[in-house]
Amino acid sequence: MSQQFQHDVLVIGSGAAGLSLALNLPAHLRIAVLSKGDLANGSTFWAQGGVAAVLDDTDTVQSHVEDTLNAGGGLCHEDAVRYTVEHSREAIQWLIDQGVPFTRDEHAGVDERSFEFHLTREGGHSHRRIIHAADATGAAIFTTLLEQARQRPNIELLEQRVAVDLITQRRLGQAGERCLGAYVLNRASGEVDTFGARFTVLATGGAAKVYLYTSNPDGACGDGIAMAWRAGCRVANLEFNQFHPTCLYHPQAKSFLITEALRGEGALLKLPNGERFMPRFDPRAELAPRDIVARAIDHEMKRLGADCVYLDISHKPAEFIKGHFPTVYERCLTFGIDITTQPIPVVPAAHYTCGGVMVDDHGLTDVPGLYAIGETSFTGLHGANRMASNSLLECFVYGRSAATDILAKLSSVDMPEALPCWDASQVTDSDEDVIIAHNWDELRRFMWDYVGIVRTSKRLQRAEHRVRLLLDEIDEFYSNYKVSRDLIELRNLAQVAELMIRSAMQRKESRGLHYTLDYPDMLPVAHDTILQPPTYAD
Ligand SMILES: Cc1cc2nc3c(=O)[nH]c(=O)nc-3n(C[C@H](O)[C@H](O)[C@H](O)COP(=O)(O)OP(=O)(O)OC[C@H]3O[C@@H](n4cnc5c(N)ncnc54)[C@H](O)[C@@H]3O)c2cc1C
Repeated sequence: MSQQFQHDVLVIGSGAAGLSLALNLPAHLRIAVLSKGDLANGSTFWAQGGVAAVLDDTDTVQSHVEDTLNAGGGLCHEDAVRYTVEHSREAIQWLIDQGVPFTRDEHAGVDERSFEFHLTREGGHSHRRIIHAADATGAAIFTTLLEQARQRPNIELLEQRVAVDLITQRRLGQAGERCLGAYVLNRASGEVDTFGARFTVLATGGAAKVYLYTSNPDGACGDGIAMAWRAGCRVANLEFNQFHPTCLYHPQAKSFLITEALRGEGALLKLPNGERFMPRFDPRAELAPRDIVARAIDHEMKRLGADCVYLDISHKPAEFIKGHFPTVYERCLTFGIDITTQPIPVVPAAHYTCGGVMVDDHGLTDVPGLYAIGETSFTGLHGANRMASNSLLECFVYGRSAATDILAKLSSVDMPEALPCWDASQVTDSDEDVIIAHNWDELRRFMWDYVGIVRTSKRLQRAEHRVRLLLDEIDEFYSNYKVSRDLIELRNLAQVAELMIRSAMQRKESRGLHYTLDYPDMLPVAHDTILQPPTYAD
C-alpha cells in the first residue's frame, strides 16, 4: 500500500546542499531529507580538495571574485559571484561550529598566515584559500553534518527513496503554480508514496552520469533538473560540462579520480606507444589548465582510436610517490597497477554540471514553493567554467539562504490538502529490463562521442536525433510499466541529455567548457543559454 506523508519542508537530496539547508532550519519544523540510495551516495562524500573561501587576512573578497570571473569565461553573474564570496567566511564558520575537523595549520601566526586552519591553493586561485580536511574533505563534511542531522528529532532521514516527479497545482489541474510536494518511490516496498510539503527543495546533485566516463557516483543522473523542467522551471547553461582530465581507466574501477597533484609533481601524459604528447598542445604541457589537458587527451584518443592514455610518475623515487600519493598508490595497486613502476591508464571523465535549474539568490526556482540548491541549480556562480572548490561553497551559501527565505515565508503558506495518490492502475511489471540497460548504455556512449569534450554541429545533430528516439521509447516504457530506480534515472538522464544537446546547439561559439570545431572563436558578447519549458511558456 502506498503511503501519504506531510512535512513542512521536503528536501530531496542528502548531500552538502540538502543537509546544510535542513540544519539551517529551526527545530520546530518537520523536515524530511530523502536520498535515493544510502545517505552517503552523493558526490559530496567523494570531494577531495576542499572548499574555497576568503579566510586569511592576506586574501580579499575582490580577489576571489576576480579569480572566479576569470575562470568563468565571461559568463559568471557578477552579483551571484560576489554574493557567494561575501558569504564564504560565514559559511566556513558555520561548518567549523558544526564540528567539521578541518586540517589545522601548524604555522598559523608564525609567518604571514593568520588563519588557524591550513589553506591550500588550487588552479585558478591567486591565493591560498582552500580549507580542507586532509585529502578527504567531502567525507569529513558529510559525516559531521549527518551526525548533526541525526541529533535533530525534527529531521527525518529517509534512505532508498527515489523522487519520481514533483506535484504541482498545475499538474493536478488546480488554479495556481505552486509546488505541493513529490511522488517518491520507496525502494523497499516498491510503492510510490505521496509527500505533501509546504516547501520542496531539490538538492539532487549533478548530471555527470549522462556521460560514459564520469568521476561522479552512480546517482548523478540530473533527476532534479529533469523534475524541475517537467514542473515548469527554466534551466540554463547546460552545455557547460566540466571534464576532469584523469580518471582511472580499468574495467573494475568505477569513477576513481587521479588527482591533478600527480601532474603537479611531475607525472607525464603518454600515448600507448610511450610518446609524450602534451607539449604539442600547450607550452605548459601537463600543467596546462584542466580543460586544455582534457581536450588534448580526447583529441589523441579519437585520432588513434585508443581506449585510454597513460599518466606516468614512475620516474620519481618510489618512496616519494608512496609518501605523496598514498591513496592513489593503494587504490591502483588493488587493480594490479604499481604506479611506482607502471604508468596509470587514464581517460577524461565528466566531473561537474555547471548549468542547472535557474534560481534567484535564495535558491528559489520559477515555481513558487520549489527551491533548487547545490549542483542541481544554476545560480550564475560558475559561468562557462567552474573554478575548483567553489562548488561546495555554493552548496553551503545557498543552503543557508534558501533556509532563510523559507523561514520568512512560513507563516503565509499552509500545508497542502490531501493530495491524490500515485496512479499505478494502468501499469504492469516490466518483463524487458534489458531495454533499460541497453538504452542507458547507448545514451551514455553517444553523449560521450558526440556531446563530449570536442563538439561539432554534425555530432550534435546526430546526438539530437538519437536522443529523440530514446525519449519516445522511454516514454512508452514509462507509461506501461511500474517505475523502478533504473527507469526513473534513465528517463531523467535522457531528458537532461536532450536539454544539454539543445543548449550546445544554440551556442554558436567556443567558450569555457563548450568547444566546437565549427565555431572555434568566442563571440564578443556573452549570453546565457536559457531554455523555457513548454508548460512555463503556456
Ligand atoms: C570525485 C569528486 C571530487 C570533488 N571534489 C570537490 C572539491 O574538492 N571541492 C568542491 O567544491 N567540489 C568538489 N566536487 C564537486 C562537489 O563534490 C559537488 O558539486 C557537491 O558535493 C554537490 O553536492 P550536492 O549536495 O549538490 O549533491 P550530492 O552531494 O551529489 O547529493 C545528491 C543527493 O541527492 C539525492 N538524490 C538525487 N536524485 C534523487 C531522487 N530522484 N530522489 C531522491 N534523492 C535523490 C542523492 O541520493 C544524494 O543524496 C567533487 C566532485 C567529485 C565527484
